[in-house]
Amino acid sequence: VMSALIRPLVEPRLPDWVEPLWFMTKEQALEMAPEAEIGWFDLNDKEPMIEIAKAATNLKWLNSIYAGLDFMPLDLLQERGVTVTNGVGINAITIAEYVVMLMLAHAKGYREVVRAQERHDWLLDSPGKRELSGERVLLVGLGAIGGLIKTRLEAFDMTVVPVRRSGGEGNLRPGEWREKLGEFDWVILAVPSTDETKGMIGASELAAMRPNAVLVNIARGDVVEQDALVEALQAKKIEAALLDVTDPEPLPEDHPLWDLENAQVTMHLSGRAQTKMFQRSADRFVENLERWHKGEPVAPQMD
Ligand code: NDP
Repeated sequence: VMSALIRPLVEPRLPDWVEPLWFMTKEQALEMAPEAEIGWFDLNDKEPMIEIAKAATNLKWLNSIYAGLDFMPLDLLQERGVTVTNGVGINAITIAEYVVMLMLAHAKGYREVVRAQERHDWLLDSPGKRELSGERVLLVGLGAIGGLIKTRLEAFDMTVVPVRRSGGEGNLRPGEWREKLGEFDWVILAVPSTDETKGMIGASELAAMRPNAVLVNIARGDVVEQDALVEALQAKKIEAALLDVTDPEPLPEDHPLWDLENAQVTMHLSGRAQTKMFQRSADRFVENLERWHKGEPVAPQMD
């Protein structure tokens, strides 16, 4: 059972043993779900996907275009022995480019420049005084996305210190980065939202950051304690926060983050380069179908 969104990309390449059912709406998906052995249930809205996954009682393999499946009933799927593959890496390039854009836009005061153009105002000086070159970055998460962020920022002559759950040469471990927070100009979050990472940046971490530090979050909103962040931004304890993700999403219309001059909020857009993302996901899925049929492990599987 698959979303009709990916039909043109997948259908011509489906092997004979697959009997595809395509859905357009949540209602159709719910109706088809109990028949599904393999499910690609992606919709723009995540809530219905939870319902659909629960209704898919014969499911053996769930595939998703998303990298973060923290919203899915993963415990239930695991209990039922369902294999889960996700979209890790599928939009990593576009997210890494977005991070560079957010950082440059902040460093060069680009938001002010756009406003000046709208006012037809010929600014005599650049509102942005920062250079990325020479600045130090703490990069929390060195996976598919973090790895690409690192190489791009190093091309700007930044020093990037990564944090990985598994540590490794040149990387900090989860227990090692907090005491070093004061050494960095930028803190970038590129971790999944897990019990270990939820709220990993709270009041004490924000207090330990430099006054010129900028927090960049493209991971998940709940990795940051958002109320503590608002307070730190209001009190100018850090220079700015560049947030592609918030908690909750969409950010409520009256939320203070919208109006803070030192907060840049983008609408979970960093990974939305749909064409390439869908193509990559479809390619990976078709390759996985072959493996699945031969009884080989499909990849990448969520642990
Ligand atoms: P990966 O699984 O490839 O990488 C995750 C990285 O986080 C790994 O390096 C992992 O360490 C590290 N990590 C995990 N737990 C911890 C911890 N407690 N402390 C420090 N590091 C930790 O994922 P991706 O790079 O593809 O994606 C990361 C997250 O970004 C996704 O889970 C998703 O939530 C978010 N995302 C956001 C998008 C957006 O549009 N804004 C789009 C896509 C994803 P190790 O290498 O040792 O395993």
